[in-house]
Amino acid sequence: MSVHSHPGDATLLRYAAGTLPAGPALLVEIHLQGCPHCRAAVRRFEAVGGALLDAAEPAALAADAFARTLARLGPAPVSGGLTGGGARRDHLEAAFSGPAAAPRLPEGLVLPEGVRLPRPLTSRRIGAMMPVAPGVRVGRVHVPEDGQSNVFLFQIGPGRAIPRHTHDGTEYTHVICGGFSDPSGHYGAGDLVEADGDVEHSPRVDDDGTCICLAAFEGRLRFRGLLGVVLRPFL
Ligand SMILES: [Zn+2]
Repeated sequence: MSVHSHPGDATLLRYAAGTLPAGPALLVEIHLQGCPHCRAAVRRFEAVGGALLDAAEPAALAADAFARTLARLGPAPVSGGLTGGGARRDHLEAAFSGPAAAPRLPEGLVLPEGVRLPRPLTSRRIGAMMPVAPGVRVGRVHVPEDGQSNVFLFQIGPGRAIPRHTHDGTEYTHVICGGFSDPSGHYGAGDLVEADGDVEHSPRVDDDGTCICLAAFEGRLRFRGLLGVVLRPFL
C-alpha cells in the first residue's frame, strides 16, 4: 500500500493533543496504521506537547504522589474503559503490532478478496449496509464516545459515483480498498482526504473494482445536493 494523501498538520496536531473529535480521530487512527510518515509526525507533536507541559509545571510533587495516585485508582482494568492519552497510545501500539482481529462484518458488506476491515473498526458496531443510490451502500459506524459524530462506511461499485454534494465543515475520507477520483485528484487504499465546505464534488470510483471507504464529517451535517437526501434516513 503506498499512501499519497495524508491528514494535514493541523489535523495531526489536534489528534496528538486529543482535541480532534472522535469521528475524524477514528479515521486518523486507521490512517496511522498504514502511514509511518504520519505516525512520526504525531510522535513529534506529542513530544512537543510533553515538553510544553514540563515547562509549564514547575511545582514539585511529593515523592509518593505517584504511588498514592495509583492506589486511589484501584486495580488496573482488564480491558477498555480508559480514554486518556496513555491508554490511547497503548491501544495504538496494539493496533500497529497485534495480530489481526477476527472479522466482524456488518450485514450487507462484501469485502473484495484479500481485503479486511482496519483493526480499529473491528471492535465497532456498524449498522447494516443499506442501498442508497445505484451501486452505493452505506452503513453507520457507531462512535458512542461522541454522540455528535457522523461516521459512515461506504461500499461503492466499479464506475459508480457518490451523489454530488457539499457540506458545512470538513469531510474526512479514508480509502480502505479500491480508488476514486474527484477534481482534486485520484485516491487509493490508505489515503486520507480532507475536503472543506467549499468543495462541491461527486467522487467517482475507478472502473476496475469496488471502493470501500469511511467518511467522517466534522461540524454541522447539512448537505446540499442529493447525498443529503440519501443519507437522511441515517441522521
Ligand atoms: Zn500519512
